[in-house]
Amino acid sequence: MVNAPAAFKSEVWKHFGFVVSRNEKEEKVTDKQTICKQCQSTVQHTSGITSNMRSHLTTQHPGKCQESVKKFQSGQKTLHETFTTVLPHNCVKAQDITGCIQKVQTVNV
Ligand SMILES: [Zn+2]
Repeated sequence: MVNAPAAFKSEVWKHFGFVVSRNEKEEKVTDKQTICKQCQSTVQHTSGITSNMRSHLTTQHPGKCQESVKKFQSGQKTLHETFTTVLPHNCVKAQDITGCIQKVQTVNV
């Protein structure tokens, strides 16, 4: 098995390699079939289309495929979380802001 060329940017290629077929004369890489690195099973591949491999990953190895997606999502706050996050009162930044507000109020009075 050989790894997919670096030019293949799709995530699924991290989990698949190409089949090397051998006859008496030469070794030949076929792009019609790919091998799953997780379970070594072959998956039909139509040039440039990764949907077969993608569905193999989601059905056979759901954990592997979702990994990167989950990581990305958990690192991001939702819009709601962003606006409802309150600074703790003992935080320096919070005290700064409170101090500023008090100054402004004092000036205005
Ligand atoms: Zn597999």
